[in-house]
Amino acid sequence: MFKMHLLIGLYLSCITNTYAEDINIKLSGEVKQGGYILGKTSPKNLVKLDGKILDVSSSGDFVLGFSRDDKKNHTLIITNPEGKKVTKTLIPKVRQYKIQRVEGIAKKIMQPNPKAVTRAKLDSSQVRAAREITSNLTAFSKGFIAPIKGTITGVYGSQRYYNGKPKSPHYGLDYAGDRGDPVKAPADGIVTLNVSDMFYSGGTMIIDHGHGITSSFLHLSDSYVNVGDKVKQGEIIAAVGSSGRATGPHLDWRINWFQIRLDPMLVLKTKPIK
Ligand SMILES: [Zn+2]
Repeated sequence: MFKMHLLIGLYLSCITNTYAEDINIKLSGEVKQGGYILGKTSPKNLVKLDGKILDVSSSGDFVLGFSRDDKKNHTLIITNPEGKKVTKTLIPKVRQYKIQRVEGIAKKIMQPNPKAVTRAKLDSSQVRAAREITSNLTAFSKGFIAPIKGTITGVYGSQRYYNGKPKSPHYGLDYAGDRGDPVKAPADGIVTLNVSDMFYSGGTMIIDHGHGITSSFLHLSDSYVNVGDKVKQGEIIAAVGSSGRATGPHLDWRINWFQIRLDPMLVLKTKPIK
């Protein structure tokens, strides 16, 4: 009886191996909240995350990510042209974020005027639209570099409570810098938004890196590229500033997978798949 089971076990594992050879899949990145996951498979395969088809490039690259507070189990299914499937369950690791409580804030700071609210709404709809763009660029799969050399002064996920009320969390990486310091493209891409005077974020630029991955740069004092321009990794695209509602010059760099905000630090750490 035992021998019989062992044989069946071996037989099954051989089948599994054959399947694995048919459906080659590699993943890179940390499965945690704010995480950035690169994938590679045969470009002929169909890749679905939670039932939604992900774009696979002609070299087999795809990407996905997890939001700051993602507590779901995600199902990644790769199907080859013969209909064979590989299923992977991705459970983002829960993180602890920096929480800061500030008491005694005056009312007028907490309630901006209606004109400002209208402008801020317009800004965020423009930003939203830029982050919704799907392109077949594959720059996202080739690794990111930091856009400036400054010290990191603000991290992803941190949150302030004013008078006990939670403010929206901080989604960028803040880098210390002086007004005019050069900001470099962290990866190749195309400029999809360049506005000099958004209400909160001031000089704001968005670069598309492909498959829904975008970089956003906030509080800029200047920009050296225009919407539609192709940029190369390391190319100087803008200058650090304190425009919009910023306390001083710094660069706030954000990364999105469509509307899902990812941790730029985890993007920097994710190694390209060879
Ligand atoms: Zn910031």
